[in-house]
Amino acid sequence: MNRKIIVFFGPPGSGKGTQSEYLSQALKLPIIATGELLRQEQNRGTALGKELGGFMDKGKLVPDKLIHELIAKRSKKPDAKNGFILDGHPRDENQLKDLISMIKEGDELIFIEIKVGDREVQNRLGGRRVCDCGATYHLIYNPPKVAGRCDVCGKKLYIRHDDKPDVINDRLKTYHDAANPILKYAAEHFKLISLNGQQPIEAVRRAMFEALKLPD
Ligand code: AMP
Repeated sequence: MNRKIIVFFGPPGSGKGTQSEYLSQALKLPIIATGELLRQEQNRGTALGKELGGFMDKGKLVPDKLIHELIAKRSKKPDAKNGFILDGHPRDENQLKDLISMIKEGDELIFIEIKVGDREVQNRLGGRRVCDCGATYHLIYNPPKVAGRCDVCGKKLYIRHDDKPDVINDRLKTYHDAANPILKYAAEHFKLISLNGQQPIEAVRRAMFEALKLPD
């Protein structure tokens, strides 16, 4: 079976998580959100989770080997047989090479870039609230129905460690260092869709569906 592999690419806070949810429902493909999987490990308080905190809380990338294992294992589950959606991977050229090495003949790889400026990223992340179940909210742009509680599972929302101003700047630097070569490669070898992420969530969704020729 040929797989559809969608890669969401964009700075932190660009709306990759939100838009990947829409696409996951429309295409019936699971989301592999590396940051989310790593945070779950961190929240379990395991030895590995504690080690991860040393990277993640500072906005640094965790070692490639671990990410490779995470994706290789998750992408082999039965629900990913028709493909999957990547949110937060690849983050640099090594990870891009690793992803390409996982592609099988006939697989279709589509990159979706969500463009958002640095200042907007800083505003957005300051108001971001997340839940352990993976849902994300924003105090102004996408508030939960009940303040401080997740709409999906009802758990208490919290602020991520790495959504602090100095860590945000480090994460933006990591993103910019890698973005150009990844996007250039994606445009030359695969399909690259670039979306303006500085519009309302629904407008970004509509532009994405239109570019993918999906019914609204
Ligand atoms: P995110 O939720 O995508 O913003 O990721 C949060 C943090 O998890 C990042 O700042 C990194 O420390 C780590 N992380 C997530 N995805 C990757 C990846 N593909 N490679 C390395 N580290 C990652």
